Amino acid sequence: IHDVQEIYKIATIPGDGIGVEITEAAVRVLQKLASSSGTIHFEFENFDWSSKTYLKKGYYIPPDGIDKLKNFDAVYFGAVGWPNVPDHISLWGLMLPLRNSLQQYVNVRPTRILRGTSSPLRNCKPGDLDWVIIRENSEGEYSGHGGTTHAASGSAVATEVSIFTQVGIERIMRFAFETAQKRPRKKLTMVTKSNAQRHGMVLWDTVYHEVKKDYPDVETDKMLVDAMTVRMTLHPETMDTIVATNLHADILSDLAAALSGSIGIAPSSNLDPTRRNPSMFEPIHGSAPDIAGKGIANPVGAFWSAAEMVRWLGQEDAADKLMECIEKVTESGTKTKDLGGSSTTEQVTVAVCNELEKAF
Ligand code: ATP
Ligand code: MG
Repeated sequence: IHDVQEIYKIATIPGDGIGVEITEAAVRVLQKLASSSGTIHFEFENFDWSSKTYLKKGYYIPPDGIDKLKNFDAVYFGAVGWPNVPDHISLWGLMLPLRNSLQQYVNVRPTRILRGTSSPLRNCKPGDLDWVIIRENSEGEYSGHGGTTHAASGSAVATEVSIFTQVGIERIMRFAFETAQKRPRKKLTMVTKSNAQRHGMVLWDTVYHEVKKDYPDVETDKMLVDAMTVRMTLHPETMDTIVATNLHADILSDLAAALSGSIGIAPSSNLDPTRRNPSMFEPIHGSAPDIAGKGIANPVGAFWSAAEMVRWLGQEDAADKLMECIEKVTESGTKTKDLGGSSTTEQVTVAVCNELEKAF
């Protein structure tokens, strides 16, 4: 019936814990989206890079791993981390090398209240909380520069140097302004801690004022990160697009996810805006060892991340349809425990697949 089919090669890295469960669910949903659309075709290849394989082999990513990923149109990631491997080893063994070597310097984290779900904030109506957080994803506090030593006193001394570059700040700032410009409210809030951190954060301020001149139609304001947590909690309706450093945006996006109902619904995209390398899509939650293996993980963050991947691949209409199906399901009450429901991962997955069958 359809003579034109777009074929996309997707690498999947399920990782650990519920990462495996939600990746499996997301692949099923993507396959159903493809077959229902009739015009999209996905070819998946799975990469078993996890804490389990690390403990056996001593590495997360094999030597030729990154080169292999470069042949794909996109990477879909579950979660990494397990109690028997220190968190900084798993993060620096898998997640950060992927983001860095694939030049994914932008992390996009949208948050809003999906139909049939609610915010823990009293008086917060669905339209009040509709944000997209743009996180600097390549430098700053996560530059990995520093060391440990023993000072003359004999007690340990550690440095953790944040590296901020003008190039790095400018490219994330432009991406944030462009994101804000495309959204209905055209509003950008820039977050720093430039009262206390007087070098890197002040450079953020300087670059912000420069770049702002090129986007006169975007309404802007500036916040310190501590005051920002208060504003997000008390006046969610006053913000739209938010840009912040690697660490600040990491913290603010966990808060954003919680305020929108659950950490289990929030998606994220690690983008190389130059499109020279594949971008990578993953829910913001971790491997959740406390609920792993129970079949109760919320797959909505994984599905929303899949929708963002489909959008990045250029299939806007399919992405919108997938989001609509997800919201039909949350609206119908088929929700996992974290959203106040009693459905399993499997039941939510089947419900979204059933909606997709009717969507095209
Ligand atoms: P990371 O260091 O990778 O960010 P984390 O240690 O911050 O991970 P998560 O693994 O995200 O933590 O889990 C935090 C809490 O949220 C846990 O209680 C977990 O069960 C819950 N949680 C996380 N993801 C989901 C999900 N998809 N569905 C339901 N609950 C979840
Ligand atoms: Mg976390």
